[in-house]
Amino acid sequence: MPLPSPKWFPCPSTSLVQYPRNSSLFLCKYSNFFQNKEKTQSWNSLKFIRGKKLLKDLTTWGIGGPCYYFVEVFDQTHLLSAIRYCHMHSIPYIIIGKGSNCLFDDLGFDGCVILNRIESLERIEHGVFRVGSGFRFNHLGVLTCNEGFTGLEFAGGIPGTVGGAVYMNAGANGQETANTIESIDIVTTEGKFQTLNRVDLSFGYRTSPFQSMKDLAAIIAVTFRLQGSKSAKKRQQEFLKRRRMTQPVQERSAGSVFRNPSSLGVSAAELIDKAGLKGCSIGGAMVSHIHANFFVNTGGASSQDMLNLIALVKDKVDRKFGIELEEEILYFHPYCNDMN
Ligand SMILES: Cc1cc2nc3c(=O)[nH]c(=O)nc-3n(C[C@H](O)[C@H](O)[C@H](O)COP(=O)(O)OP(=O)(O)OC[C@H]3O[C@@H](n4cnc5c(N)ncnc54)[C@H](O)[C@@H]3O)c2cc1C
Repeated sequence: MPLPSPKWFPCPSTSLVQYPRNSSLFLCKYSNFFQNKEKTQSWNSLKFIRGKKLLKDLTTWGIGGPCYYFVEVFDQTHLLSAIRYCHMHSIPYIIIGKGSNCLFDDLGFDGCVILNRIESLERIEHGVFRVGSGFRFNHLGVLTCNEGFTGLEFAGGIPGTVGGAVYMNAGANGQETANTIESIDIVTTEGKFQTLNRVDLSFGYRTSPFQSMKDLAAIIAVTFRLQGSKSAKKRQQEFLKRRRMTQPVQERSAGSVFRNPSSLGVSAAELIDKAGLKGCSIGGAMVSHIHANFFVNTGGASSQDMLNLIALVKDKVDRKFGIELEEEILYFHPYCNDMN
């Protein structure tokens, strides 16, 4: 059954344009929001939690205030119901996986956060896996290498979901998600299911067509086609060892904050390091001593601390090298229906 025509589309994440915090509309809406008692609402076997779930508990950075609504979905029927509910009540929504590439605001998110727990895995034929978009990407990487397939060695150590990896076209060590995909199942904002073939889609460095797809509601499942390899497991172990040595894996981060500048032959981390910014901190946000493109929450970092640190690093790198770094992480405005 098609969805009612949407008044709100899924909220796009954006580059770091900051929300005007002195907006009276915003403060009015939120003061009203916080006076309301916490509520749980059940609908079609879904439990919508109002005002209670904190985004800092849903993200690897550990930053972010309350979700106006929060719901977990465990299969595609649940997911469609959640989207339908949001449409019916004109609530803007976003779908997240592990929140490992997201910066949410301390003010929270004035819509519904749909947490994707679609964790199915089917072996279709030799080397072909159809995987739910909430499946852990790290786990998929380890599982496929253990079974003797190459293509997802790099996924070991990436703390996101399959859906997040496809949306971001996650990659490392010369490999990327797009190269292993055969097809992707999505649901549109009209409530239609579609299977998209990889050959018809155009991916780039940390970009996917989903980032600009106006009628995307969610990625539901992904079919991967992998080749057999006897050396995949060993290669993955080497990648994991290197990751543990060069990244602050024990600390709260969102991976690389900036994309590497294209065709300049220098990484964002090198530029930040050469600008003398390792260890630079604002409040609880700090440029990692181990990897300069990882910014860590040393404890109690606010979203503003992180935004200010990102702005400071961008400014210093630009002044020193004349290079404008571009964010890889995604910032979600707290009041997304106020965006252009
Ligand atoms: C320690 C660490 C190491 C990392 N290493 C790497 C690395 O080596 N390479 C790399 O590329 N990244 C890396 N990352 C970043 C991050 O893990 C990846 O970008 C990951 O793919 C994000 O997945 P996620 O499920 O957490 O997505 P989220 O952060 O939850 O979401 C990211 C975006 O994807 C969208 N999205 C998520 N799921 C869906 C869905 N089912 N349908 C539609 N949209 C969806 C969200 O709305 C959001 O816009 C690292 C992060 C950390 C913390």
